Amino acid sequence: MSSQKIVFLGPPGSGKGTQAQRLAAELGIPAISTGEMLRTAVEDGSELGRRVQGVMERGELVSDELMAEVVRDRLARPDAEHGFLLDGYPRTAPQADTLDGILKERSGDLDHVIYLEVPAAELVDRMLSRGRTDDTEEAVRERLRVYRSATEPLVERYRVSGVLREIDGDRSIEQVEESILAAVSVS
Ligand code: ADP
Repeated sequence: MSSQKIVFLGPPGSGKGTQAQRLAAELGIPAISTGEMLRTAVEDGSELGRRVQGVMERGELVSDELMAEVVRDRLARPDAEHGFLLDGYPRTAPQADTLDGILKERSGDLDHVIYLEVPAAELVDRMLSRGRTDDTEEAVRERLRVYRSATEPLVERYRVSGVLREIDGDRSIEQVEESILAAVSVS
């Protein structure tokens, strides 16, 4: 049983969701995708869903305060007690601060930040071909802009703290998975 705490970082369309699912299954820890949690909330028409729907359709970010509540609640569930994999969080510096605070309370640091690198042209193609309802061309371009300005700076932060694992995401799903498994030292 693994007790690793892992974050997936990378632009929209970089394959985070696919690889996060695979790695989480391999390690026996929950894959927690904030995007998926929010999409489910929208589909269910819950209060959270009604609050985030418009923001998501425009490709903008849900507020750091609301995301802090969502992530804090999710990480407090028993299945995340002995490790977890976060996909889509943190996406801003304040979100990274929130995660640091949560980890401090639990007395355990992040083990790995898996950073998936994929060329920009490839990202737009991938997103437009997956056909998700929030993947209109306008929203896709906005999500890339938001990623560059708000999320990409986190790469440096995690590099400095020594947990960044850079992975070339511009390869087959299996090849990328193999590199990730090597990076978290699972053979
Ligand atoms: P992608 O894989 O394209 O990056 P996600 O499924 O991770 O998309 O997220 C979809 C949408 O959900 C985002 O565009 C954003 O509106 C919202 N969202 C997800 N995670 C966060 C977060 N950590 N902070 C703010 N908004 C978020």
